[in-house]
Amino acid sequence: MITLRGVTKTFTTAGGTTTAVDDVDLHVERGAVQGIIGFSGAGKSTLVRTVNLLERPDSGSVVVDGEELTTLPERELRARRAKIGMIFQHFNLLENLTAAQNVELALRVAGAPKAGRAAKVARSLAVVDLSDKADAYPSKLSGGQKQRVAIARALANEPSVLLCDEPTSAVDPQTTITVLQYLKEVNERLGITIVLVTHQMNVVKALAGDVAVMESGRVVEHLRLDGSPLAP
Ligand code: ADP
Ligand code: ADP
Repeated sequence: MITLRGVTKTFTTAGGTTTAVDDVDLHVERGAVQGIIGFSGAGKSTLVRTVNLLERPDSGSVVVDGEELTTLPERELRARRAKIGMIFQHFNLLENLTAAQNVELALRVAGAPKAGRAAKVARSLAVVDLSDKADAYPSKLSGGQKQRVAIARALANEPSVLLCDEPTSAVDPQTTITVLQYLKEVNERLGITIVLVTHQMNVVKALAGDVAVMESGRVVEHLRLDGSPLAP
């Protein structure tokens, strides 16, 4: 589903040059949950952002669903990105839009026809059991509910891949379990391939089969975990 080959990404600032991702190879099978774990600054976030080309690699190849993305022009990339959902640590919801409007925005951005949007919004919110919060603004939602709206937004365009960048780092342990349950359902019931970036070992343990350990921009180890559930 996802194949990265020789992916390198360097940042140059006034402070100097950092190789955030250094010659990484990674293969994720269709329907898998791939964990990426490592300490802060290891390059996890940059790596996951190369999968949808939010970060354009300096070199290397990014193939998603059989298609090389690094050579696509920005215009075509937008359409492919709609098929790669993403959620973030701080949810990234727009505060002046309701839950339903946040989800609909992903459809508008992707150019989905107006006629079918309301049904897609409703279906996405139903996946995360938030149909009753459709008209709520983010300020009225808990952290866990906000992340569930973000999951719904990411699902709206029926992606084949969901990228999760520290999805539970801003919520409490009980909410972490709930968010992970929904991600598990997205993977198992909808068949969506998940890449899960986290610094929390218990989080990868709860969800991921294969885990890449990152250190200084490199994948230094591959682990295979059994997906044992988190204890409440
Ligand atoms: P992680 O997600 O594992 O915490 P990151 O991918 O965020 O790691 O960062 C890896 C390295 O790249 C860090 O040294 C970070 O400071 C640097 N970095 C990330 N993004 C940028 C950026 N936009 N500009 C400059 N340096 C960056
Ligand atoms: P930009 O203004 O930077 O181009 P977009 O218009 O692409 O941003 O996206 C607007 C908002 O919708 C952003 O908050 C973005 O995170 C979110 N978004 C768009 N498409 C998706 C998607 N497929 N999955 C998750 N979030 C999305």
